[in-house]
Amino acid sequence: MSNLDLHPAPATCGGRADVTGRPVRDLLPAKNVPLGESTVVRRLLPSMGRRMVGAWAFVDHYGPDDIAGEPGMQVPPHPHMGLQTVSWLHDGEVLHRDSLGSLRTLRPGRLGLMTSGRGIAHSEESPREHAPLLHGAQLWVALPDEHRHTAPMWEHHAELPRVTGGNGLSATVLMGELDGAVSPATAFTPIVGADVFLAAGTSARLPVRPDFEYAALTMSGEAEVDGVRPAPGSMLYLGCGRSELPLRADVDSAFMLLGGEPFEERIVMWWNFVGRTHEEIAEAREAWATGARFGAVRGYDGPALRAPELPPTSLKPRGRAR
Ligand code: MN
Repeated sequence: MSNLDLHPAPATCGGRADVTGRPVRDLLPAKNVPLGESTVVRRLLPSMGRRMVGAWAFVDHYGPDDIAGEPGMQVPPHPHMGLQTVSWLHDGEVLHRDSLGSLRTLRPGRLGLMTSGRGIAHSEESPREHAPLLHGAQLWVALPDEHRHTAPMWEHHAELPRVTGGNGLSATVLMGELDGAVSPATAFTPIVGADVFLAAGTSARLPVRPDFEYAALTMSGEAEVDGVRPAPGSMLYLGCGRSELPLRADVDSAFMLLGGEPFEERIVMWWNFVGRTHEEIAEAREAWATGARFGAVRGYDGPALRAPELPPTSLKPRGRAR
């Protein structure tokens, strides 16, 4: 997934100042963003007033969209730096290509994790032959300073651990740890990303960590998370300070639980890059424009994305909230 805004606003975030140290229930507004010609995504992070949840710095939800007879998702080659992309599907498939030579069709229940480190390029597209429905989430995790220049890496995990409550709750752990279940995916900060399914009639209390902040992204159904029922495609910010999360569902429902230790460092996020200074971002933009550093994506039918112009004012890291 790429940020396809022609004039992306710089997002400056990080630091503990804006982390809520206690439980809260804040619904985050979604922004509809066109992605290529045929897909519209709902962007939940960064949003007005909240930039990060743990190291999670970018959350897009898309679908379910009927793409029968249509091209579906078509995101041309573009670069990333300083982050991991987490690709997760509930319906359909997405073909991933990257400049390491990786070629993989992502499917529901399987995790695509790309660690950009110092730089990688990739494309994402619906395969020519695809299922009628496309539904998923595209997430970015900011890398901490000590690991952000690491070599780029692609991982695909078909086997992921599950947490089952015996009461209609079943969670797949994509990233980090939840209730003792640890994902094999490479993580660089204390984090959790889980897909939580609640069967109709479920009432459960999910053990969570008081030192983590959390948010819940509703994927389908009407999950009640700590008494709130966010509609599909919306996200509830929960803050810190909980040891368990009360959950209920009257109909089959699914949400993604995103959380982590509040991210201490201040970052600068612009277009598809996470850095620490304006100069670093400008350098990455220039490197993409000149074909340096990020490598080439082979096999995508079409031109690569061009980086937008940098804003006239210098990008500065200032804090997690606007
Ligand atoms: Mn991308």
